[in-house]
Amino acid sequence: MAEENAPSFRDDVTVELVKHSAADTDVLFAARVSTRGEQSLDEVRKDPERSKGLLNYLMRDRHGSPFEHNSMTFFISAPIFVFREFHRHRVWSYNEESGRYRELQPVFYVPGRSRKLVQEGKPGRYVFLDGTDEQHKLVTEVMESSYRQSYAAYQEMLEAGIAREVARSVLPVGLFSTMYATCNARALMHFLSLRTKSEDATVPSFPQREIEMVAEKMEAIWAELMPLTHAAFVANGRVAP
Ligand SMILES: Cc1cc2nc3c(=O)[nH]c(=O)nc-3n(C[C@H](O)[C@H](O)[C@H](O)COP(=O)(O)OP(=O)(O)OC[C@H]3O[C@@H](n4cnc5c(N)ncnc54)[C@H](O)[C@@H]3O)c2cc1C
Repeated sequence: MAEENAPSFRDDVTVELVKHSAADTDVLFAARVSTRGEQSLDEVRKDPERSKGLLNYLMRDRHGSPFEHNSMTFFISAPIFVFREFHRHRVWSYNEESGRYRELQPVFYVPGRSRKLVQEGKPGRYVFLDGTDEQHKLVTEVMESSYRQSYAAYQEMLEAGIAREVARSVLPVGLFSTMYATCNARALMHFLSLRTKSEDATVPSFPQREIEMVAEKMEAIWAELMPLTHAAFVANGRVAP
């Protein structure tokens, strides 16, 4: 296999904010139109710290629509199995690289040492345990070997003139893909409530660790853009309004 087609392995995910229009004041002007009409736009120039109480009230009583007047576009690189879960969130907008129109790159997911490997208990009540060094070694070796084999099969078919959309069938869900995902803060909060595990959550969720890695990076970015909204989300039990 040519050098440029040699598989590489990753245990992390990429999340970059590529574009945004998102600030705490976006929530406030939208909410204040109820009582101040056209004067509500003055909120954009005011210090949002003065209106922490309003933000908290909106979050607590689940007045969700003021949290929709903003936008964040993320570039994400993660395994296909993460995207399968991600795309269940229907109120986001997505565009993903195509396995029909481009040759897929040989980048594959192999869990890092901190990824818990052993699952015990019943569905919905799973407990995950670290796994031994031997188990980690096994997972790394078996995955890498399997990935190499499937990518070699993909290449063999492409070299024989088979269409990309046909040859891709042999590639596994551990293959990395890339996409843009755009959301507003309300949609992001709903996503975070389901795709992170937190002791602050009133309603606990038990997401797969790899989509949680994406969600954690998104939350850190969002918390910088809308710190008061993020604080109100956490203070109100991480329930999306
Ligand atoms: C821990 C975990 C385990 C999961 N396991 C499975 C599984 O085993 N199998 C599986 O298939 N899925 C599974 N899912 C996916 C889950 O069922 C949801 O599809 C996913 O979490 C997206 O949630 P959502 O529909 O609320 O979000 P979105 O699609 O983003 O929708 C946001 C909100 O909009 C409203 N909405 C959107 N579309 C409609 C509609 N058509 N009708 C009415 N209201 C709508 C709802 O209020 C919804 O909560 C799992 C999710 C999690 C977090």
